[in-house]
Amino acid sequence: MPYDPDNIFAKILRGEIPCFKIFEDEHTLSFLDIMPATQGHTLVIPKEPGETLFDISPTAAAATIKTTQIVASAVKRAFDAPGIMLVQLNGKAAGQSVPHLHFHILPRFHGIDMNLHGREMADISNLEPIAEKIRCEI
Ligand code: AMP
Repeated sequence: MPYDPDNIFAKILRGEIPCFKIFEDEHTLSFLDIMPATQGHTLVIPKEPGETLFDISPTAAAATIKTTQIVASAVKRAFDAPGIMLVQLNGKAAGQSVPHLHFHILPRFHGIDMNLHGREMADISNLEPIAEKIRCEI
């Protein structure tokens, strides 16, 4: 399927929609998920347009993994999380809802279940302090 340049993450990359930014470099952007499955749920996306992992260049894929490693370790420290779950869905059949490649970073704790992602909007006033807590660990 051709890339949809009007998907929500493309709009975030163009600055048309705001986000709670965690990290940015030449190839990637990281920001909080606004409908988090766990507290601290963070996303990492390549700047290169592509719907799935199979649609981007090896350079963009490598940069996205590198940023995921940086941000996930910051999330782990920020929440003192014993576990970090990484999720990356390719295609609607796999449950992907936003057609721009993204990695989910989810802090996990023993005995605490996740919410379903993308279902319930976070209290926006809570998100900036969470973003700052993660940024401080990068
Ligand atoms: P997926 O189902 O893997 O495509 O996940 C898409 C994710 O994007 C979901 O977890 C949504 O909560 C999240 N999301 C949708 N719109 C926004 C937005 N404007 N800012 C941040 N996260 C978003």
